[in-house]
Amino acid sequence: MDDQLRRAAEAARGFMPAAEGLALYEAAASLDVDGPLLEVGSYCGKSAVYLGAAAQQAGRVLFCVDHHRGSEENQPGWEHHDPEVVDPDLGVIDTLPYFRRTISDAGLEEIIVAVVGDSPTVASLWATPLAMVFIDGGHGAGPAHRDYEGWSPHVTPGGLLAIHDVFEDPADGGRPPYEIWFRALSDGCFREQSAVGSLRVLRRVA
Ligand code: SAH
Ligand code: MG
Repeated sequence: MDDQLRRAAEAARGFMPAAEGLALYEAAASLDVDGPLLEVGSYCGKSAVYLGAAAQQAGRVLFCVDHHRGSEENQPGWEHHDPEVVDPDLGVIDTLPYFRRTISDAGLEEIIVAVVGDSPTVASLWATPLAMVFIDGGHGAGPAHRDYEGWSPHVTPGGLLAIHDVFEDPADGGRPPYEIWFRALSDGCFREQSAVGSLRVLRRVA
């Protein structure tokens, strides 16, 4: 990965450890099928820079779907709350300005298209086959399973489905990302391709 982009990704606010971000980049860079990339859950754009770097090299577009109001776990009182991303007038989270700044600093504005809205709503109207989908949106059971159901059908044959925060041991973190990873394998449409930290990458085989 380009050094400047790697530094931009590491400088961004967010929840993607460098080793997992690089693995995400490597997976996207290894794609040998056509189509754009799409991530669900962008927050301030950290993972988007890793995926965007691969998209840029291959002449692809990266769609970043997020309502930018934060997941349950980003709200005040929860583990992943950052008071700095709360809009002072509205009193609600707004990560869109941080996202835009990250993408601008990384020089990826021509590669990345922000889709600001509710993931299941966008998924229900989506029609373009995707070379890769990265799921890192809401981590509650409802949101995680809806993201899997809404987006995994859009992964093109030979394309990749990546899921973040998959913890085999419940002591390490919440269950839903693990459940959808397990579901993807059990459904028979995906096969495990790689695993780094809590990042799992699957390939569509059917
Ligand atoms: N990938 C990011 C972290 C994402 S945090 C990084 O690299 O740092 C999870 C994100 O999912 C939050 O920004 C939240 O706003 C978004 N999200 C949660 N539920 C959503 C929904 N239903 N529709 C759209 N975005 C959602
Ligand atoms: Mg995550």
